[in-house]
Amino acid sequence: MHTHLTKIRKYLAHDAIPGLCAWCGKWLHGAAKPALCPHCLRALPWNTGACRRCGRREHPDDSTQCAALPFEITISPLLYQGPIPQWIVRSKRRGGLPETRLLADCLAIAISDAYPANQLPEVLVPVPLSWRRLLQRGHNQALVLASMIARQLNLLVDPRALRRQRHTPIQPGLSESARYANMSGAFCCRRHWHGDHVAVVDDVMTSGATAAATANCLLQAGCARVDVWCAARAVSS
Ligand SMILES: [Zn+2]
Ligand SMILES: [Zn+2]
Repeated sequence: MHTHLTKIRKYLAHDAIPGLCAWCGKWLHGAAKPALCPHCLRALPWNTGACRRCGRREHPDDSTQCAALPFEITISPLLYQGPIPQWIVRSKRRGGLPETRLLADCLAIAISDAYPANQLPEVLVPVPLSWRRLLQRGHNQALVLASMIARQLNLLVDPRALRRQRHTPIQPGLSESARYANMSGAFCCRRHWHGDHVAVVDDVMTSGATAAATANCLLQAGCARVDVWCAARAVSS
């Protein structure tokens, strides 16, 4: 009996049940996407008024600071605050599908708002993990996120387009320029493109170094335009 109850509690806590708000657990009237009640949806830390190019709120929209970035636009609907860091951590773990679903739904809304009809990228390229980290985690949360969005928006995913050439340890103390230097050359592209418009998909963007390294790689391999789609925007200090 006890284990049964524990199982139900676990299920309630970790798996979004259709009809319940995934954050506060209140009943929803009808199907919501993301599965949140109006109150929780409003309470999310939305990354509004951010620079179209890099997704930072600190930049005015006509910022020239990021004119040299290799990617064209950044879609990052949420700030790395409130419940978002926990959702991101959970989405990296086994059983984190409900949280990945929430992040994907928030991202899909922002994507639909950002592009005029028929101008979406043709292919989604998830940022790959190093084999070492993939082995630790068992799945790449960026690929799961990309697949969910692709299904919603009817786009293609190429999970094998990019490969991480070397393991880049997380170095929180690194300055932003050091992060860029650390990431350059970290990826290689395994296919040729023919002027395609692609979107790099990741869960969280911090300095933008990973996004820039992947975009450079894809442009060199023949893409005409690379956009960045990430669920949350953090800012490195
Ligand atoms: Zn709620
Ligand atoms: Zn900017």
